[in-house]
Amino acid sequence: MNIILIGPPGSGKGTQAVKISEKYKIAHISTGDLLREISKSGSELGNRLKRIMTEGKLIPDDVVINLIEQRITDKGFVLDGFPRTLNQAKMLGKIAAIDAVLFFDLPDKEAVRRLSKRRQCRSCNRVYNEGASKCVCGSQLYQRDDDKEEAIRERLKVYQSETKPLLQHYKSRMKRIDASQSVEKVFKDVCGILSSLRV
Ligand code: AMP
Repeated sequence: MNIILIGPPGSGKGTQAVKISEKYKIAHISTGDLLREISKSGSELGNRLKRIMTEGKLIPDDVVINLIEQRITDKGFVLDGFPRTLNQAKMLGKIAAIDAVLFFDLPDKEAVRRLSKRRQCRSCNRVYNEGASKCVCGSQLYQRDDDKEEAIRERLKVYQSETKPLLQHYKSRMKRIDASQSVEKVFKDVCGILSSLRV
């Protein structure tokens, strides 16, 4: 099963992608996590990516497409954070058949509220929404540079202009999910949709 998740930052794509990949035993591919790894490397490319991400802007399509091409296999995947532009979606359509497109619908106000409280694990990338200070894996949590107010606003703007048009592109296969619900309820809705699509 090949699944893509579309939704604004903070809509729970990462959290749900982990759960989907565990339940359906498919690869979880997060372009954000892959890009953050490169940005920590200290290389010239890493520093360039870090600057762009900290500003809340998108990484150029060719860099992200290259990352995805290296990771996609025929064993099934859930893509978290890709595609984010029409160009990326068209490229993906050439290398893989997509079975499900899940749209995580969340109002901007709630996205801002969640992102400003969000913390991530330095080691396993698990995401926490409120209150936690340590990850279940034992590592420390940190606040992403792009989870600060100005970058959040920019990311939401970029989502509206670059990513939201994908809903039209995937109209025939797209299923909407109310992402303002609890993690458990969202996952229940996700599983309901995926099991209705399974052959
Ligand atoms: P995420 O972890 O999915 O919120 O992504 C964090 C940041 O990584 C984004 O704000 C972008 O700067 C960059 N990024 C992640 N995925 C993509 C993508 N598909 N295309 C361009 N930039 C991306």
